[in-house]
Amino acid sequence: MTVGASAPGPELGRRSPLGGADAGSVGRTPVTIADVRVILTQPGSSRLVIVKVVTSEDGLYGLGCATYTQRVYAVQAFIERHLRPFLIGRDVDRIEEIWQMSMVNGYWRNGPVANNAIAGVDMALWDIKGKRAGMPCFDLFGGKSREAAAVYVHADGRDPREVADNAQQFAEQGYRHVRVQMGGYGGPGAVLHTPRGAPAGNYFDPRRYSHAMLGMIDHVRNVVDDEIELLHDVHERLHPIDAVRFAKDLEPYRLFFLEDALAPEDVQWFTTIRQQSATPLAMGELFNNPHEWQDLIVNRLIDFVRMHVSQIGGITPARNIAAFAGMFGIRTAWHGPGDTSPVGHAANLHLDVWAPNFGIHEWPRPTELEYEVFPGLPRIEDGYLYPNDRPGWGIDMDEDLAARHPCDEHVVEWTQTRLPDGSPARP
Ligand code: MG
Repeated sequence: MTVGASAPGPELGRRSPLGGADAGSVGRTPVTIADVRVILTQPGSSRLVIVKVVTSEDGLYGLGCATYTQRVYAVQAFIERHLRPFLIGRDVDRIEEIWQMSMVNGYWRNGPVANNAIAGVDMALWDIKGKRAGMPCFDLFGGKSREAAAVYVHADGRDPREVADNAQQFAEQGYRHVRVQMGGYGGPGAVLHTPRGAPAGNYFDPRRYSHAMLGMIDHVRNVVDDEIELLHDVHERLHPIDAVRFAKDLEPYRLFFLEDALAPEDVQWFTTIRQQSATPLAMGELFNNPHEWQDLIVNRLIDFVRMHVSQIGGITPARNIAAFAGMFGIRTAWHGPGDTSPVGHAANLHLDVWAPNFGIHEWPRPTELEYEVFPGLPRIEDGYLYPNDRPGWGIDMDEDLAARHPCDEHVVEWTQTRLPDGSPARP
């Protein structure tokens, strides 16, 4: 028998080169993209960008996160002016093709604005795919490897005692992983030796920072319950050679991970850190381009990939990265503070419960208002985040309530970071 002789032909002649509304797959009428809407809202501390892809099927839509909180209007314009006209009429089932074509359609690739815009659509299409299949997205990915995702939360304080008190309170609420910082990123405020005329800004002293943090972590490790795992985020605030020493100094405290010990521009130094300490390393929230993570994974220079899923272009690339990292014994810890929207957190959670190499979920402890704006936002129970079993991401949005909490207008200040002599620094 001739293979495929009885199967219907590909009917290539019927297909539009644009893959539009008349480009149906064989034997069915495709559901197509009818509209792409951008919703800006701020129910919590961060400005959020949510994408709603509306389909040709009555009542069927998907939600995605396109939150680049510092540049929300650039993402909004990208989606409304560039992606929307490109997407209307396309078959919602062709997620992979839409992602690939969206990425090359602008010729220049992998910037934060473009990636977030494409991610919002990508995530919404996965939501639609799940709804059409009647399955949660984790089932589309291959099913659960675990029932829930362990999370870590952020403890801060003005001095080591206050950090330890806050960490211990989280322990008593059932959290088993706590990130400990003191005085935010960069360390506690202190009188700095600045030159006359130094401008206003968010000052920090990298040398004092590492000394103060070492003392804080020593105190917290001695006070907080032994079974509580500690994490710390350097936030790329050290000179590379000081980061090498800091990772070595922290080795006795057996951190769960040390985050962003280096800036993306300095990642070659991970080789040196790796040779000199066994402190687990997490990296990636500022990455946009595959070149930024490929070598770190292949050379096993880090232990956790923690890219911001919308910054890398969405679920389609994130699934590939999870599988790629898993081949090298590297776990996932997707970036997830308050500027990952509730929709983004729901999507991260579906990746978490599926990925065999899941590590940890960063959890910002949303407010009750955020739960009201985003019905279905997962809840914490004893340090674990549980997905629901609804199709897609299992999360919705109350657009009327969201509209009553618009984004505030401000120039971002916390990123106006300066070294003691007043020179600009990476935040
Ligand atoms: Mg971080």
